[in-house]
Amino acid sequence: MAGEPQDDCLFCKIVAGTIPATVVRETDTTVAFRDINPQAPTHILVIPKAHYKDAATLGAQAPQLAAAVLAETQAVADEEKLDSYRVVFNTGSGAGQTVWHAHAHVLGGRGMQWPPG
Ligand code: 5GP
Ligand code: ZN
Repeated sequence: MAGEPQDDCLFCKIVAGTIPATVVRETDTTVAFRDINPQAPTHILVIPKAHYKDAATLGAQAPQLAAAVLAETQAVADEEKLDSYRVVFNTGSGAGQTVWHAHAHVLGGRGMQWPPG
């Protein structure tokens, strides 16, 4: 069923607490935690607790939950006192997605180039 936890999913395990993470915020439907391999002074991942394989699927199948994830990216940026930051949803392996549970990267604390690599 859509959104059900997947046994082989790293981020479902972080939601369940069976793999540790440095959690910075949690709501009924989302978790935000520090990326294990930060690409900026602040690099936090915001995920829905429910499993959707990517942002496109999340947006199509659970738009309110997608909005909750987006709202949390703002809350994380506020808590980290970021006035400029980047929100990234890598979608598909060609775009760099490696974990198949939708997640927003919140990156900040340094200057950024455009376009990204
Ligand atoms: P993607 O490449 O799918 O857009 O992003 C996956 C992110 O998850 C990467 O930035 C990677 O560093 C992060 N990541 C992978 N494994 C773990 C982990 O076990 N814990 C945490 N906190 N982040 C992880
Ligand atoms: Zn998952």
